[in-house]
Amino acid sequence: MEIEVRDIPSDGLELSYAVASKEWGLPDKGITLLSPIQIDLKAYKHGDGEVYLLGELSTRVQAECVRCLKTVSCPVHSDFHLEYAPLSGDYLGKEEMLSAETIDLNFYEGTYIDIDDEMKGQFFLSVPHNPLCQPECRGLCPRCGTDLNTNACQCRPEPVDPRWAILGHFKYKENDAKPKT
Ligand SMILES: [Zn+2]
Ligand SMILES: [Zn+2]
Repeated sequence: MEIEVRDIPSDGLELSYAVASKEWGLPDKGITLLSPIQIDLKAYKHGDGEVYLLGELSTRVQAECVRCLKTVSCPVHSDFHLEYAPLSGDYLGKEEMLSAETIDLNFYEGTYIDIDDEMKGQFFLSVPHNPLCQPECRGLCPRCGTDLNTNACQCRPEPVDPRWAILGHFKYKENDAKPKT
C-alpha cells in the first residue's frame, strides 16, 4: 500500500484498503483470517513533506483457545497514529540518530510512503496471543482430556468425605517437602 505524498490535499486524504492474507504472505501461527484486514486512514501533510497518518485496522481471526483448544473467533482492532518525514534535506544521513531520539518518527524516500511493514506490525501486535473461548474457560483435564466446561471427570474427586480431606492434607505436605530445584 503506497501513499503518494503529492496527492494529499491540504484538508487531508481518506484512504481505505482491504488486504487479503495472501497479499502479505502472513505466517500461519495457528491463526486464520476470517475476513480481509480492513485499513481505514486519513493522511495529512504538514510543512516540508511531513505526513501524519491517523487510522484504524480491523479484522476477525480464528484461533484456538489456549486452555480447551476449542476454535474461537476473535476481533482484531488497532488504532494507529504514524508520523513520516522525507529522507532528504535536514534528515539526510541522520535517520538513525533521529529514529533513536524520536521512536515514533518514520522516514520515506522519494515521493511515496509504503505502509505495508507498519500495518503488518500493527496487525501482529493486536492479534490475541493467548486466545480464550471465554474468560472463565476451565480447560481440559490434564489427565483424561475431558472438556471441564461441559463435563466433570472422576480424576480429582472433591474431598467431601473427611477421609479424603486427610489424604489431601498428606498430599499437600508431601509436595511441600519436595526439595526445591
Ligand atoms: Zn476454552
Ligand atoms: Zn479427568
